[in-house]
Amino acid sequence: MQEITLDQVDTSNYDVIIAGGGAGGLLTALALTAEGKRVLVLEKAERLGGVWHSYWVDGYRVDQGLHVITRVTRGAFVRFLKTYLSPPPKFVLHEGWQFRVHDKVGTIPSSIGETLRWPLTGWRGRLGLIRIGAKIKTMKLEEMQKYKDISFLEFMQSEGATNQVMLDVMQSAIYMAAGVPITEASAYEALRTLKDTDKESSKLGSAKRLIMGSGEYDEGYVISGMEELIKRVIETINGDYVLNSPVEHIHEHDGVVTGCSVAGKTLEHNRIVSNIPLWAMPNIIKSENTEVLDFFKRWSNMKPTHGITLWLGLNKIVIGDRKNRVLVHPSPNRWIVSISSFDPSCAPEGKELVAIAMMTIPGKSKDEMIEIMKGNGLEEYHPGILEYAEMEHVQMSYATRAALIPGQTDLDRPGPRTPIKGLYIVGTDTAGSGVGLQQAAQSADGVVKALSEDI
Ligand SMILES: Cc1cc2nc3c(=O)[nH]c(=O)nc-3n(C[C@H](O)[C@H](O)[C@H](O)COP(=O)(O)OP(=O)(O)OC[C@H]3O[C@@H](n4cnc5c(N)ncnc54)[C@H](O)[C@@H]3O)c2cc1C
Repeated sequence: MQEITLDQVDTSNYDVIIAGGGAGGLLTALALTAEGKRVLVLEKAERLGGVWHSYWVDGYRVDQGLHVITRVTRGAFVRFLKTYLSPPPKFVLHEGWQFRVHDKVGTIPSSIGETLRWPLTGWRGRLGLIRIGAKIKTMKLEEMQKYKDISFLEFMQSEGATNQVMLDVMQSAIYMAAGVPITEASAYEALRTLKDTDKESSKLGSAKRLIMGSGEYDEGYVISGMEELIKRVIETINGDYVLNSPVEHIHEHDGVVTGCSVAGKTLEHNRIVSNIPLWAMPNIIKSENTEVLDFFKRWSNMKPTHGITLWLGLNKIVIGDRKNRVLVHPSPNRWIVSISSFDPSCAPEGKELVAIAMMTIPGKSKDEMIEIMKGNGLEEYHPGILEYAEMEHVQMSYATRAALIPGQTDLDRPGPRTPIKGLYIVGTDTAGSGVGLQQAAQSADGVVKALSEDI
């Protein structure tokens, strides 16, 4: 794909216009390329990728957040990369998860025998874990769907699975997957993640291993980080892109899309894929049709997930392994990973890049959250580590555009089609199972199928 200016755009050169070049938009463009289509991507920002991003800070390459790719040997996202990029990107798997509950550290039990020796709980907790694990393992997708409108905690309580340590560990795991605590996460989405029903959608597969047991860790980092991956995706796509070009309006006439306007200029086209967040769409859609207006209004208030990541460049290697550490107590929701242990190219030689991530805590300022992460997060695990920090960098952003809560599950979210013929929607607030990049890839898959049926 080539960068062009708005003045150079001739819409007759493109099969599809893509409004917004985030993961959903770019993956759609990648798949359309393979079908021989040519696209025009209109991007509001000064770069492509949206929250799928990485960049350099003082000699360290940081991703936008902890981009642990789940399902690196299978899954919609990796399937896209393997199908459409040649050679396919290389991933480094991690060595396992460690959950810390106060001063006890438990790896993930990989068998019933290990669960029975699990150091994080006493006997009652271990037996409870085996019982609920067996229940979930044998549950069919249709049964899980019955729980879409209750929280995961309500589900666990209805099953008598109330051991506090077990719930706290689940809380930490589900937090990372659904972006909300187990009091809010849809039981269906949590169960689906735990059981990995569609074999490709779950974010924190370790949560599954926690109760099911499995020796495999199908999660890891892509060599060269997101920067290289996005670059390769952009290079492979057939078409053009225009940066700094917010789509102001998408126009409709008689129920059919007619084009969009950017910087006051109208670009006529009858196929548009919008990767613009649904929360912005009521102001983007130009229509007199109440069905259309109601559709976009209805989906404009979805609750997103928000993450904060603290990056530390250490002047020596302190952690040095590929384990993912989740802090359960003294306070849940903390995740510590030595990123340079996966791919040393992200740090200067002999140095280490460490990331600490969590979902943002409502009511706390950025500085307060950083103190929490440094204090009872990092230093509890690695006392004195901050003395080695020569680079400190903080990021805050939405991570996905729809938290997996009742009313926003993949059974509820809209797409790929809209009430406007020729207008499709893609992104992490639209139809497509999974979380994050898997979710973006699943939704792109849906759009590409719909387009090929309609064209
Ligand atoms: C901190 C963090 C950690 C993450 N970790 C992981 C992880 O470990 N594993 C994983 O799978 N996923 C992870 N993700 C999630 C994943 O990166 C995102 O969910 C995904 O990239 C979002 O894709 P999207 O299609 O919803 O697009 P978005 O990123 O929301 O992109 C939308 C694009 O549209 C553009 N746009 C908006 N309005 C307009 C307009 N009017 N005109 C033109 N363009 C417009 C935006 O600028 C943007 O480029 C993480 C994300 C973050 C932030």
